[in-house]
Amino acid sequence: MAVPLLDVNAQNLPLEAELTAAFTRVLRDGRFIMGPDVAELEAEVAAMLGVPHAIGVSSGTDALLLAFMALGLGPGDEVLCPTFTFFATAGTLARTGATPVFVDACPVCFNLDIEDARRKITPKTRAIVPVHLFGQMADLDAVNALAEEHGLRIIEDGAQSIGARRHGAGFGAKSDFATYSFFPSKNLGGFGDGGMVVTGDDELAEKARIMRVHGGKPKYYHHVVGGNFRLDALQAALLRVKLARYGEYTESRRRNAAYYTEKLAQIPGVVIADPSGHCHDAVTQARWLAESGAKLVLPAASPHNDHIWNQFTLRVIGEGRRDALRQHLADRQIGCEVYYPLTMDQQPCFRNLPESSRQGCENAHRLASEVISIPIYPELTRAQRDEVIEAVGAFPNAG
Ligand SMILES: *Cc1c(COP(=O)(O)O)cnc(C)c1O
Repeated sequence: MAVPLLDVNAQNLPLEAELTAAFTRVLRDGRFIMGPDVAELEAEVAAMLGVPHAIGVSSGTDALLLAFMALGLGPGDEVLCPTFTFFATAGTLARTGATPVFVDACPVCFNLDIEDARRKITPKTRAIVPVHLFGQMADLDAVNALAEEHGLRIIEDGAQSIGARRHGAGFGAKSDFATYSFFPSKNLGGFGDGGMVVTGDDELAEKARIMRVHGGKPKYYHHVVGGNFRLDALQAALLRVKLARYGEYTESRRRNAAYYTEKLAQIPGVVIADPSGHCHDAVTQARWLAESGAKLVLPAASPHNDHIWNQFTLRVIGEGRRDALRQHLADRQIGCEVYYPLTMDQQPCFRNLPESSRQGCENAHRLASEVISIPIYPELTRAQRDEVIEAVGAFPNAG
């Protein structure tokens, strides 16, 4: 039985009647730009996250760009950015003219290594962008402390983590902005591109709302340069249908993750990552890994975190073995993907950045050669999960 990495139809088609009704409502209303559904979705997302302001935008990428523009980041500014992330985090920074300074990754939670971030601060550093990778929030306590010490802005890239919590909160109390994406593969997956910017700051919210419509206020009078960063009314209407079920989707992802963890951990050579105390301590981690004799490491939630499992990402230990597992799964028609094969400091387009922006990312380089993500979407059946587990278990020496 083939198991896809993601099956959007399994989630969307059961909602066909409601989705069609939402489409028809907008069609008949005739207001396709902004309008009541965008405002309603914004209010619903703000309530879910417990944040005063949510601003619907055209994509997760534009959400980042808008947040950076609203904070006035630009040429001469250095911004701490995880090197182990999706391209958009770094790409949008570069587009503002600011210099991304790449920060190494924690080998346990995959998020930014705060000690490395600290080492890379200079008098030009203006902001830090914690990415909540794979559905788990970064250590915002550590980010807050660092930001406070050095007067840095905080922009959370939560594209993969809408609804994830840390100490019960989905938005950092000290953050300026957090951004989200409704790309179909994200946990709240839309029907095309879409995104959201949230903030607790009234002035920043107002600024972002103005910059979303080219910076014009009133219309056609521009004190700042913005862009067309609007979310479509149709997209908002359809997303609201799924937002109403978002809690169930998250529960199912957690159930899938718990099942994988329980079953895969029984295979010889498979260990569960130990997030307690080892996070950000690469030396202790390396020793732990060597002593455990692990060939495959399962992901785990860090203390205080509610993980929402956008991805279930394994680490395959040993030269060339990740690519061998990838081939092995492909041969068995088990969907899998490598997020991400290259770190940002390794990307050809960033070769012109100063050397100091691209150094000291060794843990991330190693992760890029070890990681592989397996199907975790909410509608996976038990038979499908078992199929994935059996395939991983049959990997020579997984084992
Ligand atoms: C998906 C993603 C984005 C970009 O979102 P889009 O909606 O695809 O533009 C940004 N950052 C991260 C970490 C992502 O995973």
